[in-house]
Amino acid sequence: MVDEQIAARGVADPNVLNAMRNVQRHLFVQDALASRAYSDSALPIGEGQTISQPYIVAVMSELLKIEPGHKVLEIGTGSGYQAAVLAEMGADVFTVERIRKLFISARKLLFDMRYFNIQVKLDDGTMGWPDNAPYDRIVVTAGGPEIPQYLIDQLADPGILVIPVGGQRRVQRLMLVTKTDGKIETTDMGGCAFVDLVGKQGW
Ligand code: SAH
Repeated sequence: MVDEQIAARGVADPNVLNAMRNVQRHLFVQDALASRAYSDSALPIGEGQTISQPYIVAVMSELLKIEPGHKVLEIGTGSGYQAAVLAEMGADVFTVERIRKLFISARKLLFDMRYFNIQVKLDDGTMGWPDNAPYDRIVVTAGGPEIPQYLIDQLADPGILVIPVGGQRRVQRLMLVTKTDGKIETTDMGGCAFVDLVGKQGW
């Protein structure tokens, strides 16, 4: 998966490639889907949600420029896969999920895998996780119509936020947002298709 779908398509950060070699994606999907876990696609995880395509996980992880010890906020825990990749990269991960069933199963799985540097919370992540702010990095793995102001406010300076944004459901642009000396800059990194970001500052 890493060689053919990720490195071959231009993701070069060794920290990303190593992390994705270490995290076994089949453990984050139901047994019936395990044989498809290393294919180039998103897969259903229940509740109408998906574990993201491995390539987009790699692209987002690379854009974040994670350094060991970074405090990283993820919105949209889902299966817990992206959180595990970030933890393998050396981040202290805070991840928020709004659907109770997914929150419970991801929290248990990540604990059983001994990812003690990941904390999981059940909440509307469009409002961030103010208790632990600011975050060096923020990644949103669901797509909403705008960049939530709460997340910009909870981003450290300097800091990087990666988020899919689109005025239409399931059609987004991947936006790279940087905060430097109080200045916010936004760059369009290309098209993507994520499930809905649902909440106060989402759909
Ligand atoms: N990062 C996940 C991808 C899961 S899909 C993984 O690696 O498996 C996106 C997830 O975002 C879904 O589980 C969905 O329930 C969740 N989500 C959508 N809106 C949210 C919100 N406002 N706060 C927290 N989670 C949200």
